[in-house]
Amino acid sequence: MTLTSDVDAFTTTRLLDAIAPTDGGRDILDPATGAVVGRAPEQTPAELEDAIARARAAQPSWAKLSHSERSAHLNAAADAIEANAEALAELLSREQGKPLNGPNARFEVGACASWLRATASFELAPEKVVDDGVGHAELHYRPLGVVGAIGPWNWPMMITVWQLAPALRMGNTVVVKPSEYTPLSVLALAHVINTALPADVLHVVAGGRDIGEALSGHPGIDKLMFTGSTATGKAIIRSSADTVKRLTLELGGNDAGIVLPDVDAKAVAQDLFWGAFINTGQTCAALKRLYVHEDVYTEVCDALVEVAAGMPMGVGLDENNVLGPLQNKAQFDIVATLVESAKASGAKVLTGGDPVADQAGYFYPSTLVADIDNSNDLVTQEQFGPALPIIRYSTIDEAVEMANALDVGLGASVWSSDVDRAREVAARIEAGTVWINKHGAVDPRVPFGGAKQSGYGLEFGVEGLKQLGAPQIISY
Ligand code: NAD
Repeated sequence: MTLTSDVDAFTTTRLLDAIAPTDGGRDILDPATGAVVGRAPEQTPAELEDAIARARAAQPSWAKLSHSERSAHLNAAADAIEANAEALAELLSREQGKPLNGPNARFEVGACASWLRATASFELAPEKVVDDGVGHAELHYRPLGVVGAIGPWNWPMMITVWQLAPALRMGNTVVVKPSEYTPLSVLALAHVINTALPADVLHVVAGGRDIGEALSGHPGIDKLMFTGSTATGKAIIRSSADTVKRLTLELGGNDAGIVLPDVDAKAVAQDLFWGAFINTGQTCAALKRLYVHEDVYTEVCDALVEVAAGMPMGVGLDENNVLGPLQNKAQFDIVATLVESAKASGAKVLTGGDPVADQAGYFYPSTLVADIDNSNDLVTQEQFGPALPIIRYSTIDEAVEMANALDVGLGASVWSSDVDRAREVAARIEAGTVWINKHGAVDPRVPFGGAKQSGYGLEFGVEGLKQLGAPQIISY
């Protein structure tokens, strides 16, 4: 079955007009320049009630469609995103701050389309659990009902698609609550996706924490997909308890990378840099603590400094830039405070660490900090920004112990020219994903989720579809 969305290409201005509130709302400012990007609605609890009621009313007919019919809608939504990719990327760049180029705005919009297509393509057939000639038991996955999706501001479009694509595919309708920092990107994305979906299958309710809280406690929401900080994840567990909501929690991380003594520093430096500095460090599964063996410590530090020097940071719409500002003042302050604590402890700033005062945007330079103690705040707290602490170690046991010492475990990486050796070390690390010779590379076919307080539940692939279905056994 093929469907097409009925949309011509939007411009960014037309998208902003389409999502602007008829009255009220608030201005959203560009974190690189302070200029007004557009006006976002501030929706009320009554509007949330209305969206949930409409999503509930639309859900049975959406669930009645076959998997291939719903997949055709997801593919048509991907077509619509591709037809509007430049307008969406420009809006995302202006609101979130990430540049158009590099692994940034255009890359994120492209990932939205590819995740929709991949999610449309997965097969989740009923599973015969017992079929021994005496008894039969089959495991089916039915739609849950209405899924709530609450997201962060770092990858606002891509994470929204990660949440809504499997939910829709499994026959649920969806109510999204975007981050208050990046509502325009999510509203515009949903506006485009909705050109390919039946009415009321997908709603966005833009508002603050109060709307998130109301969504997570609402009896009309059957499952909540949450991506954000561990602190908010804990609040959501509490507020969802009375309705025993199903939860997928993708929470904060503080990913360790371990560089073994056999690496070629120059060969891995570029990948190490992007592992840590992708999206100017504002990435859940970015490399946030780098443990380097003493034999290669100086070489790795030098190679990283050289790579960092060649990565231009600036306003996102400038095609030359590959790093942008921090998205908001609060995040800028967190990064600045953590780097100051490292400096005060006597750690050595190899590059960066000295933002320009009184600048228009929240630019914090790419910062590498060496000779830092493992107990420093820049190591133990999630910096979520462009400041990487590099810690020296002597034995693998010591490195593994330091990597596992925190109560979060989203991703991790091991860097070595001997993949078998790296796999042995990887097996000892407490994290949901351990990459070898790369960091943070996600793939729509490969399950992704956190260990420890980085959350629970898996996203992506067939495992991800299962999390958006209600398991039901038919036994006879
Ligand atoms: P946040 O927790 O402050 O906010 C996330 C969302 O939760 C926002 O939409 C916010 O309005 C909403 N919210 C806030 N309080 C709420 C409440 N009490 N009930 C319901 N909703 C509420 O997170 P953030 O600052 O936007 O994002 C950064 C964090 O997200 C980092 O810790 C990062 O590691 C994490 N993150 C994790 C993943 C992952 O896949 N594990 C991906 C991206 C970001």
